[in-house]
Formats: sequence, C-alpha cells, structure tokens
Amino acid sequence: MSKIQMTTPLVEMDGDEMTRILWTMIKEELLLPFIDLKTEYYDLGLAYRNETDDKVTVDSANATLKYGVAVKCATITPNAARMTEYDLKEMWKSPNGTIRAILDGTVFRTPIVVKGIDPCVKNWKKPITLARHAYGDVYKNTEIRVEEGGKAELVFTSADGKETRELIHSFDGAGVLQGMHNTDQSIESFARACFGYAIDTKQDLWFATKDTISKKYDHTFKDIFQEIYDAEYKEKFEALGIEYFYTLIDDAVARVMKSEGGFIWACKNYDGDVMSDMVSSAFGSLAMMTSVLVSPSGVYEYEAAHGTVQRHYYKHLKGEETSTNSVATIFAWTGALRKRGELDGIKELMEFADKLEKATLSTIESGRMTKDLALITSLEHVTVLNSEDFIKEIRKTYEAM
Ligand code: NAP
Ligand code: MG
Repeated sequence: MSKIQMTTPLVEMDGDEMTRILWTMIKEELLLPFIDLKTEYYDLGLAYRNETDDKVTVDSANATLKYGVAVKCATITPNAARMTEYDLKEMWKSPNGTIRAILDGTVFRTPIVVKGIDPCVKNWKKPITLARHAYGDVYKNTEIRVEEGGKAELVFTSADGKETRELIHSFDGAGVLQGMHNTDQSIESFARACFGYAIDTKQDLWFATKDTISKKYDHTFKDIFQEIYDAEYKEKFEALGIEYFYTLIDDAVARVMKSEGGFIWACKNYDGDVMSDMVSSAFGSLAMMTSVLVSPSGVYEYEAAHGTVQRHYYKHLKGEETSTNSVATIFAWTGALRKRGELDGIKELMEFADKLEKATLSTIESGRMTKDLALITSLEHVTVLNSEDFIKEIRKTYEAM
C-alpha cells in the first residue's frame, strides 16, 4: 500500500517527559507506516529551549504563522524545582503563553466522548467545547490592600492629560481594592476566533457574561460580540443552520446542565478557567481532553489539554511499566492532519484522521484501555494495557478496519 502524500509541512513541536515518549511511539506506530509525514520539527523539550535561550519556541510560533497548522506535545513550564533539575539559565516562560501571545489566539477545549466513559451529567450526549478568552481581566489585575479609612477612585488619564474619575468607595476602615482592564482589540480577536471556530465545526455558539451587573465592562464584551456577529458572521451562521446567542452567565450555567451538549461555550478569562475545569472533569478525564489554539487570522495549533505526566515519566526512567493515556495526543495529531488535509485539499489525509480516531475509540470501546480509563469505565470486561501496548492495539484496530 502506498503512503499518503502531503504537500505542506505540519509544524511539529516536540515536548517533555512522558508525553515526549508517547510522541515517538505515536509517530512510529500510527503515523509513519501510513503517511509520508512532512513536518518542520521544533524541539520544545526544556533542555533545547534552555540551550537556545527559548528562541526555538518563538521560531516554532512564527513557523505556525507561516504554514498555518501546528501540532504540539505537552511541555514543562519551569518552576524553582525545574531550575535545578535541568540546570536552567533562566526560568523560561510557559511555551503555551509565548505561542499564544504570538498567534493572538483563543483556546478551544473539547472532551473526547467514548462509550464506556460516561459524563457525570447524564443528559450530556455530545461534547461541550469551552472557548476561553486568554487575555486580561483578573489575570492582569492591580490590587491594593487598604489598612485604614479613605477614598478610593478609578482614574484614567488620556494621552493629552484629560482625567476621568469615578468614586469606587469611601472606606471607613480596612478593606481591599482591585483594578482590571481589557482592550477592544483583544475582545474583537476573541469574538472572531469564536465565530470562525463555530463555522468551522458547524456548532452553535453561546456567549455569557454578567452584563446586568457590570454595565460597562461586561456590556462591552456583549456589544462587541453582537456587532461583529451582525456585520460579519450572521449570514454564514444562517446558511449553515447554526445559531449564536448571548445570555447571562447564570442562565448559561443552568442551560448547560440541562443540555445535550454539542455546542461551543465562550467565556471570559476567569469564567473560562473555572468552567473548563468543571466541564472537563464532568466529562470523565483530563487525559481525554483536546485543545486547539485558533488565531483570528485562521492559524491552528493542536495539543492535548494535559501536561507532561511527570509522575509516570519518573516511573518510566526507573524502568517500571507505565499505563499513560495517549488518546488526547493522538487526537492532537489527527486534528492537525485533518486541518492540513482540508487546507491543501488532500482527502486521503482527512479520511486517515477520521479513521485513526475511530480506531482509537473502538479500541477503548472493545475494553482495551489504559489504567486511568479502566478506573472509571462502565464497561465490564476490561484489559488494562501499558502505554506502548495500548498504541499497538490501536494500530491493530486500524489495520483491521
Ligand atoms: P499532568 O501532566 O496533566 O498530570 C497530572 C496527573 O493527571 C498525572 O499525574 C496523572 O495522574 C493524570 N494524567 C494526566 N494526563 C494523563 C494521561 N495522559 N494518562 C494518564 N494519566 C494522566 O499535570 P502536572 O503533573 O501538574 O504537570 C506536569 C508538567 O506538565 C508540569 O511541568 C507542567 O508545567 C506541565 N504542563 C504542561 C501543559 C501543556 O504543555 N499544555 C499543561 C499542563 C501542565 P496519576 O499520577 O494519578 O496517574
Ligand atoms: Mg484552571
């Protein structure tokens, strides 16, 4: 059988620890035998980031802007312990943060739904995708702890020196203060990324804030979404039979719980942080969550939502067997390959991605899975596999298809 040919390379961002081990296994067992894989390789493993003063991360993001599609392995975000472990020159920033800043993207997280791993919410039948605005608000706040009575004001000084003042509160005693911001430009990018992704995946888009209480701040988000929708996306949504609506965040939460799933839920930064953890754990497992960063200009970076699974890696280094779930990393590859196929008009590549995903899911549905899933499955006859054997079983399923 001849291998599937590619025309444009994928930007391949290798990573760290256990996921780096899985990365090689996935390529060897599931990709290279079937595809004449074209990638432009960037090693984002911490050792090489340190060696290049993190230039490799910036280069990989720029390559993504150039080619349009990247696939990324989980990477270590250094902390104090990693400084000694890897003898780092500096505490390099999170690669995801660096890449997100260059691509100006929004992150969409979607659970992988499979028979036998049931969501806690019994009426959820289809995945719920969380879109989180990744700039500003409380994540870029300024805070003051007030120790005595006094007057707190919000002051804006324009470039030509004009002041706008609003009283925040007259304190009688001790208390706390917080200032935060966002920019129209960032909110507009967020809105376009969400509308674009809804069209791309043909799903409804929900957006929710607390504009009844926050009449300027949250209301600006609501207005920008509505203006962009009406001017640029309304007709496309109607043609596809999908819907955009805005609702209050409390109403959204109630509706999400009663829904069947199968839509995108766009959230402000803090709401998205909290709600994505809630939605992903309610769907079953962090190891079954995919993540894609989409820029407003239509550039895509696919990855798993989990980290490098450090604890398993240390076992692996000691020569012990691991049972690490590779599903989200496999789906990062299939997501990227499908998008590459779509952009380059290579039907075989898109079909390959679909088929590999099906093979992965039917392997699990047949009872062959890693330990994390075996612990939560409702299936009765289960074979717990190690990291490598699980990937080999997926290959067998794929070949049998
Ligand atoms: P983690 O790698 O997501 O793992 C946390 C725990 O979740 C694991 O110890 C494991 O539980 C379970 N788990 C996660 N993924 C799994 C999988 N594929 N298969 C089986 N079990 C899985 O988070 P972490 O340990 O907090 O972080 C480790 C490193 O990853 C850190 O250096 C962090 O900076 C980095 N990180 C990177 C990204 C990214 O690149 N996007 C995201 C998050 C964290 P058990 O140990 O109980 O089996
Ligand atoms: Mg969180």
